Amino acid sequence: TPQDAAQDRTLPGVRPAVRAVPAYPFTPADVPIKLDQNENPYDFPAELKAEALRRMGERAWNRYPDLHADTLRERVAAYEGWEASGVVLTPGSNVLIKILTELAGIGQTVLTVEPTFSVYTLEASLLGARLVQLPLNEDFSMPVDALKAALSAHEPGVLYITQPHAPTGFVDSPEAVRELVDAARDWVIVVDEAYHEYSATDYRDLVRQHPNALSLRTFSKAWGLAGIRAGYALTSPALAENLQKLVSAFTMNTLTQCALEVALEQPAYVQERVREGVQERERVLAALRDHPTCEALPSQGNFFLLRVPDPQAAYQHLLSRGIVIRRQDSVPGLRGCLRVAIGSPAENDALIEAVQALR
Ligand code: PMP
Repeated sequence: TPQDAAQDRTLPGVRPAVRAVPAYPFTPADVPIKLDQNENPYDFPAELKAEALRRMGERAWNRYPDLHADTLRERVAAYEGWEASGVVLTPGSNVLIKILTELAGIGQTVLTVEPTFSVYTLEASLLGARLVQLPLNEDFSMPVDALKAALSAHEPGVLYITQPHAPTGFVDSPEAVRELVDAARDWVIVVDEAYHEYSATDYRDLVRQHPNALSLRTFSKAWGLAGIRAGYALTSPALAENLQKLVSAFTMNTLTQCALEVALEQPAYVQERVREGVQERERVLAALRDHPTCEALPSQGNFFLLRVPDPQAAYQHLLSRGIVIRRQDSVPGLRGCLRVAIGSPAENDALIEAVQALR
């Protein structure tokens, strides 16, 4: 169109794939109860924050940080029972998803399900990679046979398996996950475990058996450090070495390194928060069980889906009570659904009361 031509002249170096992708669809809402980003409701403990800032004060700010955050890689490795050469740290696991897409490259396939975590498909579209998305089964389980057929029908690339799944909170059987990972020997297999602390799942053992597999983990959820930006991959040294090449040098900044060092020395607070988060999730789901028109779907994450008769009206109703959640009703397979994070007990009480007033 003439408009595109005009844009070509003003933005000559921008690939069409980039221009075609809409900006990340998120508008922050200024309300007291934020249940829209699957965050931890609690800030990093004050005494640990003070210790991280004290260490930050002792570091030289004029010097670049550790090139690949090697000290931190060793500490993450010790925490996870992994070898340090198989750990890759980035500012949030979102960055790893970008790098994994680059690893596959233009023309390679990014294979995932629908609905799925939006960043997998966003990065694939930005790069111009071939995106293959297969719908989840009606019960939200993975379409294992269709995925296996796609693995043999397409050029290799990256397969994303999310456990617990986002945005459904569903957990597949370990047998289903193993079957897929076993079938994807020519692919890079990502088991995104951003929410594993809230479920009984842990795919480290499976990943260890496959040099082409990796587990993606984050400090943003159970650790309550979303603002510090840190995520990591646990994988084979060979895959880690290649991923590391795609990570910009010096990308883990000094403040992030100080905060994570302190967190990893005192991880006990995480267990207590996860215990409360799981207990609160079950309490909220139980409280909404007998609702006449809304259905709260079971979840193994720190969030759940709420199916309502009128998502727009429900969203506005909650907003008018100072609660913001995430709409999902335009997502294929999630008609009528809203995604709700588990907050503090008081926030959850407010949520339960607001949902109970919905008809
Ligand atoms: N994977 C999944 C499934 C997620 O839900 C998120 C956060 N919304 C991430 C990865 C990325 O988290 P971060 O970049 O904060 O590590």
